[in-house]
Amino acid sequence: MRYSGLQVLAQGLMGNRGWTPAWRDPKPKLAYDILIIGGGGHGLATAFYLAKEHGLTNVAVLEKGYLGGGNVGRNTTIVRANYGLPGNSEFYSHSLKLWEGLEGELNYNVMHSQRGIINLFHSDGQRDAYARRGNAMINQGDDAILLDTEGCRRILPYLDYAQTRFPIYGGLYHPRGGTARHDAVAWGFARGADLRGVDVIQNCEVTGIDVENGRVTGVQTTRGAIRARKVGMVAAGRTSQVAALAGMRVPIESHVLQAFVTEGLKPCIDHVVTYGMGHFYISQSDKGGLVFGGDLDFYASYAARGNLPMAEHVMEAGLTLMPMIGKARMLRSWGGIMDMSPDGSPIIDRTHIDGLYLNCGWCYGGFKAVPGSGYSFAHLLATDRPHEPAARYRLDRFETGAGLMDEEATGAQHNLH
Ligand SMILES: Cc1cc2nc3c(=O)[nH]c(=O)nc-3n(C[C@H](O)[C@H](O)[C@H](O)COP(=O)(O)OP(=O)(O)OC[C@H]3O[C@@H](n4cnc5c(N)ncnc54)[C@H](O)[C@@H]3O)c2cc1C
Repeated sequence: MRYSGLQVLAQGLMGNRGWTPAWRDPKPKLAYDILIIGGGGHGLATAFYLAKEHGLTNVAVLEKGYLGGGNVGRNTTIVRANYGLPGNSEFYSHSLKLWEGLEGELNYNVMHSQRGIINLFHSDGQRDAYARRGNAMINQGDDAILLDTEGCRRILPYLDYAQTRFPIYGGLYHPRGGTARHDAVAWGFARGADLRGVDVIQNCEVTGIDVENGRVTGVQTTRGAIRARKVGMVAAGRTSQVAALAGMRVPIESHVLQAFVTEGLKPCIDHVVTYGMGHFYISQSDKGGLVFGGDLDFYASYAARGNLPMAEHVMEAGLTLMPMIGKARMLRSWGGIMDMSPDGSPIIDRTHIDGLYLNCGWCYGGFKAVPGSGYSFAHLLATDRPHEPAARYRLDRFETGAGLMDEEATGAQHNLH
């Protein structure tokens, strides 16, 4: 079924009884050409682009839970291309371009909203760093505008400009940045892949990866064994556990990241805003809730919930920046499991096992990467050659030390994530 305004009108007139399921619920077959482990944003996008760009449809996505239950449905929905280093710049730039055509390509409303992102800065040093980043973005062909205090005041009048401890010197404005509805992205890619013949199989946990003579031959699952020529591991926060099924130890630590949402309010925050002097960023959802978050909880964990000190820290930072949000009531908070890589940049690569491929290390920024990652991983799986914008996301950079992409210059230290 093709979705359109006319379809909505017609279905409305017919009592909404004609809608069909957005994707099938297939039983796993005994064998596929390609298996994708993990039905999050990245796994589903990979399957979609395998079918769409490479005509490969004998493909299954194996998801241990339900679609949208992982980080793809837990994030704070920010989409941007404001990276500064070679490797990340071209990759996220490509991903944002895919976002801009995504709704048409999927025939699905993912509520992509290019409302603009403003990263505030509060010192001369921070201004220099953001000016440099903005220039890198422009050199990459993306958009960036350096605002001074008055420029910020014009578009963000509700910030506390009177605070003396961390005065607002200005902000780096990225107009093409914004948000999208997170779980709709998973649903849109699932529907698009399913329509092209991919089997999207929920409640199917991979419990083993079969390797014979250095080559992958299939997987064991809670719904039986499935053979495959190629297997892609795309399990985000569970990457280390999934890779261990093939005897691999990967340079990933899993950490909790929390998010918070308030009751629905009338529109008051038009952009995405990040605070340069505290762990806090915010936007307002189309339902009216203020959606905000901070930094990691700073301990490795597989629990999808966080601790109270971080919640308190985020609230404090938010109230320092925009006291008006103190009037809103908090509705919910939750956590997701982040696949933190040592340099904060991702991995899209083959492994030492023939036919086994790895996609991980998205840290707290992998939602915006979903289309780009799916596109590049599909290219790698289909052709065995890296896709140019993702060519630097090599696994061996952590072994050799060459080609690290450390955006935050925190060094290869997990405790500094
Ligand atoms: C609070 C929070 C805020 C965030 N904010 C942003 C943001 O604003 N912008 C941004 O770009 N990014 C953000 N992120 C990061 C982003 O959500 C993740 O980087 C991205 O979603 C990870 O990729 P994914 O969607 O494929 O992961 P997931 O949705 O977690 O997909 C992985 C899937 O693998 C499945 N799986 C695991 N093990 C197995 C197995 N053995 N067998 C079968 N299936 C398995 C899991 O069930 C899961 O569904 C945020 C994350 C969180 C938690």
